[in-house]
Amino acid sequence: MSSKKVYIVSGAGLSAESGIRTFRDTDGLWEEYSIEEVCSVEGFRRDRQKVLNFYDARRADVEQKEPNYAHKRLAELKKAYPKNIVMLTQNVDDMLERAGCEDVIHLHGTLTDLRCEECGEVFPIGYRSQERALCPSCGSYNVRHNVVMFGEAAPAYEHLRELYSEAEMVVVIGTSGQVIDTSYMAQLIGNSVLNNLDVDEYHDRYFKTRLYKPATKAVDEICDLVEEFLKS
Ligand SMILES: [Zn+2]
Repeated sequence: MSSKKVYIVSGAGLSAESGIRTFRDTDGLWEEYSIEEVCSVEGFRRDRQKVLNFYDARRADVEQKEPNYAHKRLAELKKAYPKNIVMLTQNVDDMLERAGCEDVIHLHGTLTDLRCEECGEVFPIGYRSQERALCPSCGSYNVRHNVVMFGEAAPAYEHLRELYSEAEMVVVIGTSGQVIDTSYMAQLIGNSVLNNLDVDEYHDRYFKTRLYKPATKAVDEICDLVEEFLKS
């Protein structure tokens, strides 16, 4: 069995076809919210309840959505090569998990968990409102969304360091590379695949293979390329 490592890094474009919107789709505004209000440390300090309400609404929204074909194919691929494939995502939804994917690493946290601000415990909330939720470990009501905001550390970025040291192939799906420098990954790792809807020559130039189409239309080809690499 091959010991090669393939890192798959996904972003909003993977979940877009499941109807999960992002701030980018809405010009930085989401209903009555601005990105600074609900996705930054300053905004959280200014109006804590508004931010918690926002994430309650996002959980209720994600509950109504379903994994798409791309989530399902990636889950199958991970199941077939559990030791070789590392699944990183910038998405905070649970679509990959609901498609049956195990060991998904969420670089920016998870909507379906809360985090205790007293003891740091991360615990599941599912799709419920966090109202009256308390920490199962220390009993504190001082709990918050488990989503990384602008201005905060992202502990899961540790896995990006592992990517740079051990990945022999990297697949980037549905991200513009503005938060995590996916362009640099392609510069470093020769065997690289990009799947995005739109061309961005500056970001895309180092990728060996580029697939400009929706994730559900690109995913079969992506899985073939990964399997080919693992079997070679
Ligand atoms: Zn606690």
